Amino acid sequence: MKRLLPALFLVLLFAACNGGSNKKATPAASTVDYSQVAIPHFNADSAYQFVADQVAFGFRTPNTAAQSRCADYLARQMGRWCDTVIVQDFPATLWDGTTVRGKNIIASIEAPASASTGKRLLLAAHWDSRLWADHDPDQDNHRKPIAGANDGASGVGVLMEMARIISAQRPAVAIDFVFFDVEDQGCPEWADNYVEDSWCKGSQYWSQHPHVPYYTAVYGVLLDMVGTEQPRYTKEQISRQYAAGVMNKMWAVAAALGHDKIFENTETDPILDDHYYVNRMAGIPMIDIVQNTRGISFFQHWHTVNDNLEHVDKNTLRITAEVILKTIYGDYGIQSN
Ligand SMILES: [Zn+2]
Repeated sequence: MKRLLPALFLVLLFAACNGGSNKKATPAASTVDYSQVAIPHFNADSAYQFVADQVAFGFRTPNTAAQSRCADYLARQMGRWCDTVIVQDFPATLWDGTTVRGKNIIASIEAPASASTGKRLLLAAHWDSRLWADHDPDQDNHRKPIAGANDGASGVGVLMEMARIISAQRPAVAIDFVFFDVEDQGCPEWADNYVEDSWCKGSQYWSQHPHVPYYTAVYGVLLDMVGTEQPRYTKEQISRQYAAGVMNKMWAVAAALGHDKIFENTETDPILDDHYYVNRMAGIPMIDIVQNTRGISFFQHWHTVNDNLEHVDKNTLRITAEVILKTIYGDYGIQSN
């Protein structure tokens, strides 16, 4: 990610809708008391450790040893809990014309055979870290890489812990975890020209070359920057455009859990993230749960050299996960294995 989509493009895309930003949305009705839904215990310390493990590999940028080692780690760990793990190697041409290799990690937990509905859910995050701190207040840092503790590792850490606990108490739906690579190597702010579609290379590739032919899911949830110290998620426009029902439901679950100050019932402008391509190219309705600090881009340390582990809050990881878990288990229940 993740800059705002260019204004002209938005005018064309959303000419027919009465968009606008920061207006209150209509809350969704719900018949399930989500506060009472049983879910497996999400261990925030474990999730945090998975974030720390990724950051410890160093900068997870394309064509580096750190990328290779972190990909191996992710595939190995997911293999402990998931029925299948696929590493999808793909070529990506970056904004400056260079070609690199990316690795999407796709891991699946099937529903128990006795309770299988044939339905699947898609949970995703990007695992690469950005090569340039081009939003750093200090210009001298603009060509340095970032640790990507929140921007990248946090979403993956949450999903790893979810895989660990879901595998032991499976719902009546299959879960596909997809960790996209080469999401965050888009055109830097210091480049002379903006290059279209230079972000989200892994999701663009996967959406056009799914790991299973004709793959689809009931819905998808993308996590990005989900460990900040002051979490605020809003109803972002691409998510509303393509997956309003999913978004309204998940926000209603959050409200039922008392997290309406975090999952704020406010409609905000579109952002370019992996969900954009999954919605447009793969046709799977996918929402983005992404940090949106009021008045700034995403969060204080976004695309700066300070996006490091000390700004990852375990409690935020847990709350974010629990809202998703309550939604999944509210619909599909815990099945005996
Ligand atoms: Zn980023």
